Amino acid sequence: MKITKVEPLLLDRYLLVQVHTDAGITGLGESGAWGYLEASEAAVQKYGRYLVGKDPLLIEHHWQYMYRFSHFRGSAIMGALSAIDIALWDIAGKHFEVPVYQLLGGKVRDRARVYYHVFGSTREELVAGVADAKRQGFTAVGHLTPFLDSNREEAYFKTHADKIADAIDAVRQYRAAVGNDVDLCIEIHRRMTPTEAVQLGRGIEEFHPYFFEDPVTPDNFDEMEYVAQKINIPIATGERFTSLWEFQMALQRNAVQYVRPDVCMVGGISGAKKVAALAEAQHVKVVPHNPLSPVSTAACLQIAACIPNFGLQEYPTGEDVPPKSDLVTGIAEHDGHGYLVLSDRPGIGVELKPDAVKRCPFTPREVETRLDVDGSVIDQ
Ligand SMILES: [Mg+2]
Repeated sequence: MKITKVEPLLLDRYLLVQVHTDAGITGLGESGAWGYLEASEAAVQKYGRYLVGKDPLLIEHHWQYMYRFSHFRGSAIMGALSAIDIALWDIAGKHFEVPVYQLLGGKVRDRARVYYHVFGSTREELVAGVADAKRQGFTAVGHLTPFLDSNREEAYFKTHADKIADAIDAVRQYRAAVGNDVDLCIEIHRRMTPTEAVQLGRGIEEFHPYFFEDPVTPDNFDEMEYVAQKINIPIATGERFTSLWEFQMALQRNAVQYVRPDVCMVGGISGAKKVAALAEAQHVKVVPHNPLSPVSTAACLQIAACIPNFGLQEYPTGEDVPPKSDLVTGIAEHDGHGYLVLSDRPGIGVELKPDAVKRCPFTPREVETRLDVDGSVIDQ
């Protein structure tokens, strides 16, 4: 079997990749570099020129060959490599007529527990979203800010005391809305300094969050370690990491208690499986990052199926426009009790609908960064 074509497809807000073969098998993957999909598309085309004519089943060899070409790194390139890796695993599964997880040791569970996405530009919307998740049968919610999902065009100002006290009160309201029936994955989106993060982390400890996600930017592992050492709730991080080696640097500092590899950016299914093993060696659980299309979800579920240290699966539910069913067939079903049922279809289990690109035109994300009222740039 030989690869005949590597085809990047920009559609909706996603970059999917199809790898075609002369055996009539097509593999599907996705890039997770959502801020820079156009750059990732260019990297897919470049890798495609290497791959055409090669055996698609030599997945690890191709991974090494592409990654170690000159050792340039970063999310646009790793998103491309990840998309191709996922597509090659999809081809391998279809070739051997088994789900990908069967090629990775077989499944260790039948269902994957998920966390539901909650969004809101007001406190009332956020509390209602948490309660709504419980009503729908979910047992965990995430993407859950203790601030607000505010419009980035609005300049920001709060006093320090108000910022911290209000955020603690938000978490109190979320817990009150659902009791202990729903786990709260508190998402900070990299917007605090280390000392702010420690104050807020200590303030919400009594509400037993499942984890405290990305309290500080991913630029400096020592800062995340500083926060982790001073709070008594677990830190989740890793969604912007692009390699096994970054996870190793965070894990060896005990700076992370839940790793969040993005299968579409950390080197695909190959990369995520290795990150899971690194984490397993420290009894750290894996919560695959998954904010994108159902192709990403399908790839994540291959990992969730076969690793012993799986924690939760992110399940993007809040921005379903157009519906995911418009893009692919074979989407994993929610069982009504907070789990997705694992597919036993060959490969990653989903197929792109033939007219998806035509029906879901690409909408590029423009650069939009929030400002302070004084005109300076802040993180949000
Ligand atoms: Mg996150």
